[in-house]
Amino acid sequence: MESVKHIDLVTSPVPVQSREVYSGHSLALEEIVHRFGDMVALQDIHLNIQPGEFVSLLGPSGCGKTTLLRIISGFLKPTSGRILIDGQSVGALSPKQRGVGIVFQNYALFPHMSVWDNVAYGLRANRVPRGRVANKVGEMLELVQLGHLAKRYPSELSGGQQQRVAIARALAVEPKLMLLDEPFSALDKNLRLDMQIEIRRLFKEQGITAILVTHDQEEAMSMSDRIAVMSQGTIHQFGTPSQIYDQPATLFVSTFVGTCNLLPGKLVERDTSDCVVEVPGGGKLRVANHDTLRSHNDVLLAVRPENLRIQTQPSTHSLPTIVEMCLPLGAVMAYEVQIAPNTKVKVTQPRLPGARPLQQGQQIYLELASPQACALFPAVS
Ligand code: ATP
Repeated sequence: MESVKHIDLVTSPVPVQSREVYSGHSLALEEIVHRFGDMVALQDIHLNIQPGEFVSLLGPSGCGKTTLLRIISGFLKPTSGRILIDGQSVGALSPKQRGVGIVFQNYALFPHMSVWDNVAYGLRANRVPRGRVANKVGEMLELVQLGHLAKRYPSELSGGQQQRVAIARALAVEPKLMLLDEPFSALDKNLRLDMQIEIRRLFKEQGITAILVTHDQEEAMSMSDRIAVMSQGTIHQFGTPSQIYDQPATLFVSTFVGTCNLLPGKLVERDTSDCVVEVPGGGKLRVANHDTLRSHNDVLLAVRPENLRIQTQPSTHSLPTIVEMCLPLGAVMAYEVQIAPNTKVKVTQPRLPGARPLQQGQQIYLELASPQACALFPAVS
């Protein structure tokens, strides 16, 4: 993304009030379209984010996450569409006027300023009286537990500490929205998890509305109230982490989030509640009926490894399979099984101490954990 001047990032104009708790602000995006020349980077984006909500924009590289974040912040003007904060259109407002705080992956701290001066920067630029600056900086440093390091310079801090300073600096000016652009990706794995927990708790306690850009699905799942899953400039699904995981709206969501087996199938029976899908190898599964598939007989069945049950005896709706590989993965056993030539399926089950794993070459039968435990999509032609 383009480099942005420091001064623009931290000088929210929102007057500093002496309030202990932030009241969240809402954000609505209506029909946002953005083109770079002929290339459509964002297409018909709609999002309604509630006050105090933590939302992630999740998607692969190049899907348009950063472009959307820049449009929300005001650093990029969309080709068309409306942006509303608390119901008021902010399309004509500058980033400063929108009152948006941004935290970047590379922290973007001022290297020549102490921690204290970094956090005070936006307040001073907004001409907040000196006494109030001191109180606010003290409060913010307490909030991110860095009061004891106020005199240090950024180069004397760890990555996690620098990121906490960046967050304190952004929060000091009481932004209406906090935008977080891959803020944890420069941190090592353990520190990243600590920071994710800390930030989630801090933002929830303060009632801050936040939008996180990430391509890390675990980060999005663990931190967010809702996730917008993006691909090629569109939002495929906007829902809670469990909706995204359990009821993927599109084939893309089912494969991008978590692990999923995809099996080509044919609808061979249909009644009002369920339908029966025949998959390679001739096995049949009973799955919850999908109204959207009324006119399709060729389907793709998407099922997660943990939603398959292993049986030793066949039943009317099970798949005969041969175990090809067994992988003990600590808490679970993962198996790769063959249901037909060139068609393999992954299945996992809890690994119980002392239990004998299945053997390579053993015949087993797979059933769905429930008719709802899979998703059906029209076959891709
Ligand atoms: P990443 O996770 O890699 O940062 P992203 O999802 O944030 O990706 P964007 O940076 O929003 O993706 O880019 C979306 C699309 O727009 C990409 O195809 C990108 O090449 C293109 N793009 C972004 N900025 C510009 C620009 N200034 N000029 C032309 N094309 C651009």
